[in-house]
Amino acid sequence: MDCKQCDDNLTAYLDAELNAVEAAEVRSHCQACASCADELQSLRKAAEYIESQTREIDPNPHAWRIVQARISAAQAPNPQFRFLSLRWYLPAAMLVAFGIFGFGYMQYRQYEERILNSYIEKYTQERDARIRVKTVLTKPDSSARFENAYEGNPFIEVNFTPADNPFLLEGR
Ligand SMILES: [Zn+2]
Repeated sequence: MDCKQCDDNLTAYLDAELNAVEAAEVRSHCQACASCADELQSLRKAAEYIESQTREIDPNPHAWRIVQARISAAQAPNPQFRFLSLRWYLPAAMLVAFGIFGFGYMQYRQYEERILNSYIEKYTQERDARIRVKTVLTKPDSSARFENAYEGNPFIEVNFTPADNPFLLEGR
C-alpha cells in the first residue's frame, strides 16, 4: 500500500469500516511511514474533538407531544372500506382504461368517417361533372358549339378535355 491508498483509507480505518486485511495494511503502512502516521493521528484527534463537543438532543417536548397526539388521533383505515377499495380498484381501473380507449377509438372512427365522406363528396362531384360533360358532348345542339374538323375520321380522336373548361361545368 502506498501513501495515496493509505490516505484514501484513513477515515474508513478510523470509522472501522475496512475489512481485516485492509485495516492490517493501513496499520502496517502507518508503522513504517511517519507522514501517514501523523495524518492518522491528526484525523483521530479531530474525530475525538468533534465527539467531545457533541451532545444528543431530544426533540422539543412540546412539539413531540403534538406529534404523538396527532399519531394517536389518526384513525386506522376502515377495514371494510379498504376491502371495498381493493375489490373495486381493478374493475374501476379497467373501466377508466376502456373509457379512454373507447373515446380514442370513437375519435378515430369519426376522423376516418370524415375522410371517407370527403372522398365520397369529391368522387361524387367529379362524377357529376363528368356526366355533365358527357351530356354536353352528346347533345346535338351543344356539340355543335365546337368545331370538329376530324369528325367522321375514325383514325383521329379529338382529345377534347372539357373538365378544364369551367363554363361547361357550370349550371348544368
Ligand atoms: Zn505513507
